[in-house]
This record gives sequence, structure tokens and C-alpha cells, in this order.
Amino acid sequence: SPLSIKQFLEFGRDNACEKTSYMFLRKELPVRLANTMREVNLLPDRLLSQPSVKLVQKWYMQSFFELLEFENRKPEDPHALNDFLETLIEIRNRHNDVVPTMAQGVIEYKEKFGFDPFVSSNIQYFLDRFYTNRISFRMLINQHTLLFGNDINPAHPKHIGSIDPSCSVAEVVTDAYETAKMVCEQYYSAAPELKIEEFNAKAPQKPIQAVYVPSHLFHMLFELFKNAMRATNELHEGSKEGLPLIKAKVTLGKEDLSVKISDMGGGVALRKIDRLFNYTYSTAPTPSLDLKRVPLAGFGHGLPISRLYARYFQGDLKLYSMEGVGTDAVIYLKALSSESFERLPVFNKSAWRHYQGGPGADDWSNPS
Ligand code: ADP
Ligand code: MG
Repeated sequence: SPLSIKQFLEFGRDNACEKTSYMFLRKELPVRLANTMREVNLLPDRLLSQPSVKLVQKWYMQSFFELLEFENRKPEDPHALNDFLETLIEIRNRHNDVVPTMAQGVIEYKEKFGFDPFVSSNIQYFLDRFYTNRISFRMLINQHTLLFGNDINPAHPKHIGSIDPSCSVAEVVTDAYETAKMVCEQYYSAAPELKIEEFNAKAPQKPIQAVYVPSHLFHMLFELFKNAMRATNELHEGSKEGLPLIKAKVTLGKEDLSVKISDMGGGVALRKIDRLFNYTYSTAPTPSLDLKRVPLAGFGHGLPISRLYARYFQGDLKLYSMEGVGTDAVIYLKALSSESFERLPVFNKSAWRHYQGGPGADDWSNPS
């Protein structure tokens, strides 16, 4: 049952009812877990037998069973609601490290057996769906624990759970830039400056506000800024003209709220653009996990996961590059919260078909 941001908001606003939320989630959460667990089983056996993949499967299984415990517990049971809340928090913690653990399994597999294009596209397809499922799962849990738990955030009294009904986009842009700048300055002697422009085509002169999850927007922008800063420094570090600016442009139309981050970091050839969204692609050396500073780049997860966040509420993330000069990265969000429906993977026959058969012959001519 995909929900829209508007529905999340309306439910949270009018004296949100904990029992209703409980009744919905005790069914919806196991359904979402089950969908993704069925799909995990379609991965190549040699990937499934990697210890880190087994560990992830164990976490999912345990959480699934813990949720089923509530199947027959009435919301009137004085302890059910509290137990449920605690279970959700435990589940959220258990799943904290799913992404790096899964990534570890994929790397181990790739090192041992190598990737052919078919396996590689299957794993890409799977991870996009698996991580989207995880984003949605956490969204549901967070709404419940923020609305009904004691972890209310006094800094943001107007937020409905994790949603800000009047999120200033430019403010999130600035926050993400400042945070990326601190990381960047640990690796290079300087970070490029930022210039923000706003263009509100819907209500000229008014600041652009979104009904959105600020932490999702922050995540995407932080990744884009780190990439732009790294590219800029790699090309211009030490040049006597200094580092060229990074520009951010925030625009609002009838349908789309868009944010463009432009850098002069030398760009990427068209031929390579698609592979930047692969989970195992990075041109930075792999950072060690036990370091004391936050890595600037190297896991190759920045772009693909940011795109999942954008797509989760029916938006998108695209890169437009002019090789030799620089890159524009654009985040598209829905301008209307009633159109921001969750985009969820469904486990069905067509999903199953993706994992079957071998790579087909190319149906376009090949230069070689
Ligand atoms: P990571 O930053 O960990 O390498 P990302 O998914 O963020 O992973 O980016 C993947 C790769 O895409 C980078 O290693 C880099 O080669 C390339 N890239 C991303 N953004 C830019 C950019 N703005 N300019 C040039 N190259 C970029
Ligand atoms: Mg990156």
C-alpha cells in the first residue's frame, strides 16, 4: 500500500491515532519485508552463500518473525502498543548496517568470481529495489516512532514525523554544502564557494518551500556536493585563479521542484555516465572503514542511493555532463505532496523474469 506525502501528513496532523497506525503497520511492514525477502532468494547462489549476505538475510527473517507476533494482539491490549513501539526501534537498530554489509557481500563475490554483464545488471536491479524497500521501511517506522514515541524532536516542533510541511529548500542546500565543505577541507586545502539562485515560477519572489523529508533532501545534496567538490579540486587544485564556484539553482514550476548543482570539475564522458550509477563504480580509492575522518568518496554508493531517494517519492536524479568542462546534477521532486506517492518494488512475475535466462544478443549493431 504505497502512501503519499500528503497522506503521511494528514494522518500525522489530525490527532494521529496510534491504534490505527499500529493496525496498518503490523500488516504493511511484514508485507514489505516478505516482498524483498522473496526477491533476495533469486540472487545467484554464490552471492547468497557470502557470509555478509547470510547475515542480512538473518536480520530480515528475525524482524519478520518479531512483527508477526503482533498479528493477533488487539490494540486494546494495554501492552501491545508499547511493545510494538519498542519492537520497531529494535528492528530499526538491527537494520542500521544493511547497506555496508550488503555492499561487503557484493564486493566479496566480485573479487572471488568476477561479474559478467548479466550478473552485474541483475545485482544492480536487485540493489535498487532492495534499498528502495529499505528506505520505505524506515520511513514507515520513523513516522510511527516520531509521532507516538518519546523521541520527539524539540528543534522541529512543526515537523510531522520526519516530514517538514514547509521545508526551505535553499536552507537544506546551504546545510548540505557546509557539511560537505567540512569534509572536503580535510582532504584538500580548500573547498569551492557556493552561489545559490532561486526561481519561483509559481509564486514569483516567494521563497521556495517543499513538503518533503528534509533528511532525504539533505542526503542527496550532500552526496552531490561532495562529488562536485572532489571533481573541482582534482582539476583546479593549486591553480592561481583559485577554485571555480559551485552553483545551485532551485526552481519551482507547476509540477516539478528542481535543484541543479553545477560544477566546473571537468565533467564525465557521455559513454561513462550510466555507469556512475553502478553500486561498485568509483574512481576514488576505497577508503578504509576504521578511519577517523568521514570519507569524501570511494564507495560508489553516493549517486545510486541518492537517485533512489529522489525516485522514492516519484522524483528523479539525473546527470548532464559536458566533458572537459563540468557537470550539472539535477534533483527533481514533485511540487505537489498529493503526487509524491511512494514508489515501491513489487515482487511478481515480471520481477522474477528479470533474474531468469542469460544475457540476450544485442539488438543494435556493434562497432567491433
Ligand atoms: P563515489 O563518490 O564514492 O566515487 P558516487 O556514486 O558519488 O561514488 O560517484 C561515482 C563516480 O562518479 C565518482 O567516483 C566520479 O568518478 C564520478 N562523478 C560523480 N559526480 C561527478 C562530478 N560532479 N564530476 C565528475 N565526476 C563525477
Ligand atoms: Mg560521491
